[in-house]
This record gives sequence, C-alpha cells and structure tokens, in this order.
Amino acid sequence: MHSYPWYSNIRHLFLTNKKKLSHAQILYGGDKVGRNTLILDLCQTLLCQNIASDLNPCNECQACHWFARASHPDFYLIDDTGETNNISIEVIRELKDFFELSSHQQDGLKIAVIMNAENLTNASANALLKILEEPPNNCFIFLTTSNLNQVLPTLRSRSQLISLPNPSPQQIKAYVEENKIVVEPGQLEFSNNAMDELVNDDDRYRLVVEIIDELKKGKSIRLTNITTRWLEFGLPWFVDVMQKWVYEIFLSKMTNRYCYFPQHQTAVSSLASNSSLQNLLSFQKKINEIKMYAAKPVNKDLNLDLILMEYKKIFN
Ligand SMILES: [Zn+2]
Repeated sequence: MHSYPWYSNIRHLFLTNKKKLSHAQILYGGDKVGRNTLILDLCQTLLCQNIASDLNPCNECQACHWFARASHPDFYLIDDTGETNNISIEVIRELKDFFELSSHQQDGLKIAVIMNAENLTNASANALLKILEEPPNNCFIFLTTSNLNQVLPTLRSRSQLISLPNPSPQQIKAYVEENKIVVEPGQLEFSNNAMDELVNDDDRYRLVVEIIDELKKGKSIRLTNITTRWLEFGLPWFVDVMQKWVYEIFLSKMTNRYCYFPQHQTAVSSLASNSSLQNLLSFQKKINEIKMYAAKPVNKDLNLDLILMEYKKIFN
C-alpha cells in the first residue's frame, strides 16, 4: 500500500506528531482522489512496529502482515460504502466493545476508521460522542466524509478537522506517467481526475466509450441500438454520463471550451451548432429532475428511454 504524493505533507504531519494528535480526526474532501488510500496507509503506518526512516511501514512485521490480511486485532474499520448509507447504533456499540478489549501490541495503540461519517444516524453519532468523551488511552478514531456539514456539529467540535486538498491535473498526469498507469484517451478528463476510479474502474470507462459513440449521432441515435447494458452500473451512473456529455455540448456552445471529452471536440462542436440553447437548458432541467429520484427503486428501462427521447429533442 502507498499513498499519493499530494498527501505527503498531511501524512508527514500525522506521523511525526503522533503524540499530539487528538483522539478523533475528521478527514474531509479528497473524494475519489485517494482519501481512502491515505487513511488506510496512515493506519498501517501508525500500527507498524518497525516504521522506516522515510516514514513508510515496513510491510514485514507482524502488524503489517495482520494489516495486509485485514485481520489486525487493534484495527477496526467501519465502511458502509455502497451499502445501507446508514451506520447503525449497533455498529457503534461493537466499536465500544472493541475499545474495551486490551491491545495486542506493546504500545497499546488501537485505531478505528469510520468511512462516510455523514451516514452516522443521530443515535449512532451520539453513541460515538460518548466514546469520545471518555476516550480509552492511546486510541485514534479517524472519520472521513465528503459532506462535513452533514456530520453532527457536536461530533465536529470534538474532533480535529483536516481538509484534504485536491491534486492539480498536472500532479495527476505526472503521477499516472511515473507509475505507468494505463489510461484511455480522455479517461482522466471524464473521471475528473478521480484516481480511485482510474485505478479500479476500467469496465466503466469502456462502457462510457460505447455510450458516447452512440450519443455522438445526436438526433439520429437509434433507440434500438441501445441496450439495457447501458444501465450496468446503475441509473445514477448513466445520468452522470449524460449530464457530463450534455454539459460538454453546452460549454462548447457558450465558450468554445471543453472539459470532460476534449478528444471529441469536433463531434461536440458540431452537435452544439445543431442545438438551441433553450433545448439544452430544458434537457438539463429534465435530467436534474431524474437525478433526484434515480437512486430510488424506479423503472430503470423506462427512464433510460425517457432520457434518450429528451436527448434527441435537443437537436434541430
Ligand atoms: Zn511493519
């Protein structure tokens, strides 16, 4: 495991000031650009029994082996990503039990991570506050969130808040080149430089390429060419692709600039000149309405058809 270079300052700060850290830390921002990687790397390094002088974990000690197998007895991870969006009070009660057990290592350090802390319910956040009011010795709780405002204020005020910076496109490009990560043309721009997506989501980008190939036809897209496979990653995902594509046409029309699909400039610009501003705006309004309910249990095929019918209406 390694962390990204844009977080090396934060990493250094944590690892050299271990004794001064407050028990609870909320790391916010840095969505999809390596926040989860950073946090797991920090935990492994804090638990490592033989940290190297460059502040990297040794990857050889018992603690590092445990960590690699996700079985470190002094580490507790709560990650409800893609599940309930609701961290229940039972989960926090189990966390309390975890802290009450004595540590397996000599220095007695115990660490818990709660990913997506905005998903704590009021009851579970209050239970967590109780733990923080009388924190066990030598423990850390790291919380992460993309929506700091949705984390209970009392919890925020008990924690140290760490804002994670976003890397610049140049930093991302340099990192991709240095590490010989294979990216398709346009993939960095489409994913908004989201490293986590780049590293894990090749299949998704392949589908984006297929979808864009059809959307480039504008008014003459064939609804019969469109398969429910376009919904393979869910309706909200498809809505996101549509929003980016139509935003690109809008941007081209208004400013002659390109953001998500720079490799398709010619097609985008020709679609822009075949569309009216009025139609682009009404499509955006429509797709925003669909986005509001896309994650709910709705008829996905019907919505796919609806979106594409609306899409065709954009063009003259
Ligand atoms: Zn180690």
